[in-house]
Amino acid sequence: MNCELCDKRATIHICEIDEGVKSEKHLCEEHGQQVEMVKYSYEVNCVQASPVSTTVSKSTMRTFRGGRNFLRKYGRMPESAEEWREGQTIPDDVPMAVIEDPEVLREFRRLDALVSFMQLRGRMPSRDELGDFP
Ligand SMILES: [Zn+2]
Repeated sequence: MNCELCDKRATIHICEIDEGVKSEKHLCEEHGQQVEMVKYSYEVNCVQASPVSTTVSKSTMRTFRGGRNFLRKYGRMPESAEEWREGQTIPDDVPMAVIEDPEVLREFRRLDALVSFMQLRGRMPSRDELGDFP
């Protein structure tokens, strides 16, 4: 089976159930990673809008954690699929870069709290639990 967006072989198969409607996506590795990135920014930006807590898939968890660890190591968010992949290979206790930009520092703290919460509970925080967030 080929990727829906190009002619490469599809190696990533994403099954999503949204309000009871099942949809499937078949993507090559590169496009799969891009979808993850879009999902990531959606989730980071929309987590406060989520009415109830939702479970976190292993791949989402990996994406968030990779973003957090990349940010911790380099002091900025990953910008390409390659950098996102690299983030997933960085250990949690990598020495932390000096982050001077207060915006970036806030994003790091937020992401760090989110990742810690997800590691502990295996789900996204609900709106009520977001009170604990920086
Ligand atoms: Zn593709």
